[in-house]
Amino acid sequence: MIAWTPAQCLPDANPLDEGFLRGVVNGEVRLTPEQTLRIYNEMPIQELGRWADARCRAIHGDQLRTYVIDRNINYTNICTAKCTFCAFRRDGDEEDAYTLEVDDILGKIKELVDIGGTQILMQGGMNPELPLSWYENLLGTIREQFPSVHVHAFSPPEIIEFIDFFDPPGATLEEQLRWVLKRLKAAGLHTVPGGGGEIFADPVRRKIGLGKCHAEAWLTTMRVAHELGMNTSATMMFGHIEGIADRVHHMELVRSWQDRSVADFGADGGGRTMAFISWPFQRENTPLGRCREWGDHDNDDLDGVFPGDAVAQLDGKGDHKAHPEFGRRVRMSGASDYLRTQAVSRLHLDNIHSIGASWVTMGPHIGQVALAWGANDMGSVMMEENVVSAAGTTYCLDEPILCHLIRGAGFTPAQRDNAYGILKVHDGADAPDHSVKDWSTQRARRLHVQTESGCASGESEDAPINLTVQGK
Ligand code: SF4
Repeated sequence: MIAWTPAQCLPDANPLDEGFLRGVVNGEVRLTPEQTLRIYNEMPIQELGRWADARCRAIHGDQLRTYVIDRNINYTNICTAKCTFCAFRRDGDEEDAYTLEVDDILGKIKELVDIGGTQILMQGGMNPELPLSWYENLLGTIREQFPSVHVHAFSPPEIIEFIDFFDPPGATLEEQLRWVLKRLKAAGLHTVPGGGGEIFADPVRRKIGLGKCHAEAWLTTMRVAHELGMNTSATMMFGHIEGIADRVHHMELVRSWQDRSVADFGADGGGRTMAFISWPFQRENTPLGRCREWGDHDNDDLDGVFPGDAVAQLDGKGDHKAHPEFGRRVRMSGASDYLRTQAVSRLHLDNIHSIGASWVTMGPHIGQVALAWGANDMGSVMMEENVVSAAGTTYCLDEPILCHLIRGAGFTPAQRDNAYGILKVHDGADAPDHSVKDWSTQRARRLHVQTESGCASGESEDAPINLTVQGK
C-alpha cells in the first residue's frame, strides 16, 4: 500500500543507482523531477520496466491485477472548445451534433447492469445549451433507477465550463466550484474523472487545448472535489508537440497537488486522486494530426533537439519562442515510448494508488505487456468509446478476453469497484475466461473506421486478437 506521508527526496543521489532505486521501490525515497527525467532519458527500457514492476508489486502485491466493468457514455458531442487534437467535437448546428436523451442514457446503463457492470464514465463536450437542471435531473434519475451504479462523471474542463454557463454564486473560482460540485454531488455524482488533463505545461496547453481550462483550474477542480470527499483520477495525453520534461512536470503537478489534498483533507474524510492513466495522442481527423512528424520536413534539423524538448522546462514555464517549429511538428509515440512513460509514472507518482494500462489505444497486447511496466489495472471492459475512437484506432474487449490477458501476463484477474476494492477474484473454474474453449475465435472490436470523407463513422469492425499464446 502507498504511504500518504511524502517520502524524502535525495536530490543529489544518482537516480540510476541500484540502492537509491530500491529506496524508491520501497517508498522510502521519492524522485525529484530532475531524477525522473534522467531515468526516462538514460535507463534501458527493460531495466526501467523491472523497477516499475517492482514498485507496482510493492504496492499491489504479486497476485491480483484488476479491471472494472463500466461503460463510457458520451452524452453530447457539442462543445465550445476547439482542442486541436479532438475529432469528436461538433458545433451545435452541425448535422451530426447530438445530445443523448435521458432515456437513451438509461438504456445504456441497463445494458451495462445486465452484463454485471458497476460504474458509468460519463463525459461530453462543453455544451452551453444544457442547464444545471438537466444534469441534476439526469443524475437524480440514474440514482433512482440504478442506485447501485457508481457515477464517475464530468471532467474538470466540463465543470469549469459549468461555472461559465451557470454563473454560480461565489467570489472566487474555488467558491464557485464548491457550489457546483456540491449540487452535482447532492444529485448523485460520486467521483470525478481526470479527462482533459492532456499536458499541463502552459506553452503546450495553449497550442492544443483551445478554449479548454488551464492547468491550475483543472487541478483546483480536483482539489475542491477532494475537499468534498470525492475521489478523482488524473490523465495525461502525450506524444504530440510536448517535450519529455513536460510529461515529468505534468506528473509532478499531479503528485504535489495530491500531497496537498491528503495533508489538508485526508483526516476529514477527504477524497484523493486514485489513479493515473496516460496514453499517446491519436492523430486521424484532427487538426493537430495534420502537423508533420518531426523529420518529415526538409528543413528539420535532426541533429538538433525536437522543438518540444527545446521549449519544455521541468517547472512548466518554457518559452514557446525557444524553437521556431514548436507546435508545428509532432513526435508521435510508439509502444516503447508508451511503456517508458508509463513506467516512469509508476516510479514518480509515489502517492497515487493505481496506474492504468492503456490498451484502448495501444491495443490489447501492449496493454497486457504494460502490466509488466508498472500498471496494475486494465481499466474497463469497453462497450463503446466515441471520443478517442474518432481520432484513431481504439479497441473494445469483453470480460473473458480482459481476464485472459491478465492471466496471460502471469496474474489472477480480479473485478474491482471504483475505489479499487476487489469485488471478485477469478481464481476458480467459473472465471469468465475459463468459459472460452477456443481462443482463436475471439475478436477485439476495433472502433475506428476511416470513411471516404476522412471522418470516423463510429461503426465497428472485428479484428482478430490472436490470443493463442498462453496455451489455452
Ligand atoms: S477534447 Fe473535449 S473539450 Fe476539447 S474540443 Fe474535444 S470535446 Fe471539446
